[in-house]
Amino acid sequence: MGSVANYFGSLVFDDRVMKASLSAEVYRSLKKTIDEGVPLDLSVANAVAGAMKEWAVAHGATHYTHWFQPLTGITAEKHDSFIAPSPDGGVIMEFSGKELIKGEPDASSFPSGGLRATFEARGYTAWDPTSYAFIKGKTLCIPTAFCSYGGEALDKKTPLLRSMEALNKQALRILRLFGNDDVKCVRTSVGPEQEYFLVDKAMYEQRRDLRFTGRTLFGARPPKGQEMDDHYFGVIKPRVAAYMEELNDELWKLGILAKTEHNEVAPAQHELAPIYTTTNIATDHNQLTMEIMQKVAAKHDLVCLLHEKPFAGVNGSGKHNNWSISTDTGVNLLSPGETPYENAQFLLFLCAVIKAVDDYQDLLRISVASAGNDHRLGANEAPPAVVSMFLGDELNAVLAAIENDTPYSGAAKTQMKLGVDVLPKFHRDTTDRNRTSPFAFTGNKFEFRMLGSSNSIACANIMLNSAVAESLKVYADRLENVEDFDTALHDMIRKTIKDHKKIIFNGNGYDDEWIKEATEQRGLLNYRTTPDCVPHLLDKKNVAMLTAHGVFSEAELHSRYEITLENYCKSVIIEANTMVDMARTEIAPAVEAYAMDIANTAEAKKALDSNITCGYECKLVKKLSALTDRIAINTEELEEALLALDDADDIAAKSYAIRDNVLTKMSELRLACDEAETATARKYWPFPTYGDLLFGVK
Ligand code: ADP
Ligand code: MG
Repeated sequence: MGSVANYFGSLVFDDRVMKASLSAEVYRSLKKTIDEGVPLDLSVANAVAGAMKEWAVAHGATHYTHWFQPLTGITAEKHDSFIAPSPDGGVIMEFSGKELIKGEPDASSFPSGGLRATFEARGYTAWDPTSYAFIKGKTLCIPTAFCSYGGEALDKKTPLLRSMEALNKQALRILRLFGNDDVKCVRTSVGPEQEYFLVDKAMYEQRRDLRFTGRTLFGARPPKGQEMDDHYFGVIKPRVAAYMEELNDELWKLGILAKTEHNEVAPAQHELAPIYTTTNIATDHNQLTMEIMQKVAAKHDLVCLLHEKPFAGVNGSGKHNNWSISTDTGVNLLSPGETPYENAQFLLFLCAVIKAVDDYQDLLRISVASAGNDHRLGANEAPPAVVSMFLGDELNAVLAAIENDTPYSGAAKTQMKLGVDVLPKFHRDTTDRNRTSPFAFTGNKFEFRMLGSSNSIACANIMLNSAVAESLKVYADRLENVEDFDTALHDMIRKTIKDHKKIIFNGNGYDDEWIKEATEQRGLLNYRTTPDCVPHLLDKKNVAMLTAHGVFSEAELHSRYEITLENYCKSVIIEANTMVDMARTEIAPAVEAYAMDIANTAEAKKALDSNITCGYECKLVKKLSALTDRIAINTEELEEALLALDDADDIAAKSYAIRDNVLTKMSELRLACDEAETATARKYWPFPTYGDLLFGVK
């Protein structure tokens, strides 16, 4: 295939292609749209569409699609061909600026949470020119936003772009106060580290739970699990290495900067991290990455599991959202500076994040809420459901010095007066080795670690950007007209530290003592499950903030509330039905067959010699019988709990009933079935076990 540089981005209509294929004038207008958000006029759009089509057709494309991210969490596309009839009876390949800018897929089967009456089935998609178009198979994919005819967002990209704009607006106000007049635009960047499992496809096919729900609903603990930690950063197995190699190639062709890959803590678990990029592009790339991961796996007779918790008792998969804010002039605003002035600006942005995370803990928790992620958060492997921040000892000492007006006790022993004193240099690599914090400062960025592996990163970044925009707005409102800027700034930073230091925690986040301290002494929120947190999306303060920054309308928030809870309910109901089905038609019959054979054996032995006691057989048959009884009863009880859901008045009530009843019954049924697995001879077991799945890929 040759050197990576030769094919990197070969399937992307990127800056290189634009430059080469557009006239200087069109290129300049398009760049202005991309970099500064200047509206695009139709003549430019026509020229871009023409060049895009030529390029795509030359690369074998026959169709185009507006590629978007509806609220289902995956991506959607509707393919139209470029073909148009020509007068001579043949066809020509056509694509106009209008078709590039706006599409009208039938929206009726995408969830809208009541936003769109069904008779108004059509929504429209609008091109996001800041994210490059690319080719997948024979289709030109155009990244787009997806709205209803009333303009309400039916997707994740629209509010994400709005939140980026909100943060841009407020950050610019702050930068102007620091005399920074050359910055035109402030953007957030994200590098998401993606965890996943790989299992053998033939084994996967034999498990209905994996096929229908993405996770195992049954499975006794294997004799060997992850206790040896020998998988982490271990040697990558040949089949996995071949997979990773092809995955990288495919991602590189799409201009995705996949960079690191390694094994994770659990057996069969791996991680992929790209180099960070602008948030909306990182979001598109992460969606695309998840899709390509699954596609490439299939070619290697593997299945890539993106579920947050595919195996009980084994680490689940998350996604670390590395996030920073930077200017178009190349300054990372979360990077400690060299001069007093840069330090003060850095501390202000740092405080804005501290305030944002404290004030909007609930929104951050909500942004990662799903049935799958509920199994992870707080299970001693992922951060707890309590949001807190890690800053590291050195930065903490700096903040303490500011708060108490005491000398900073680091190497320099300097008094801290912002805007006057130089911040003591702290070394980046000493900052974070605390892997248990939900939200950690890692030198020049924050790492939000509560995301589940299948989450779209859009949700977390929408909330993060908006909450930080709100802090910056409060600061800018305060500082814009003060006489003594330095003193006002100093006081404001001090006040933020005083008011919000309760969110800062540098200890072990997996410790039960911490959860006690966090909730009882510090008053931090602990929303354990999706039904616990999602209703708070509609809390007054959250609605006020998100609507004030134009990120969501009230109607859009209601729709998201509905959809998140609906998705939660649907996922668990599918799991419960799958359990009933597997327990009744696969597991119980297998245990019965084994018991029958044992009973027959005992009978045969007795026929041979009536003095043989058959103690082993008798005991075993009794035990197996007791287990099948339990399985039968638990299955019925689970079915009853499911039937009772029909009595729920609304989606919230339904989600509580699921949390309190259905999930409990599912655990009981699982317990009985897993016990039966350990008591049943292997050859009777109807599907591959944990041991097979976790150690099956060589
Ligand atoms: P880890 O130690 O957690 O594995 P790395 O330093 O390898 O962390 O980075 C993890 C991710 O963070 C990568 O995707 C990387 O591109 C991203 N990253 C690095 N710097 C920044 C930044 N300034 N803003 C956003 N993401 C960043
Ligand atoms: Mg990391």
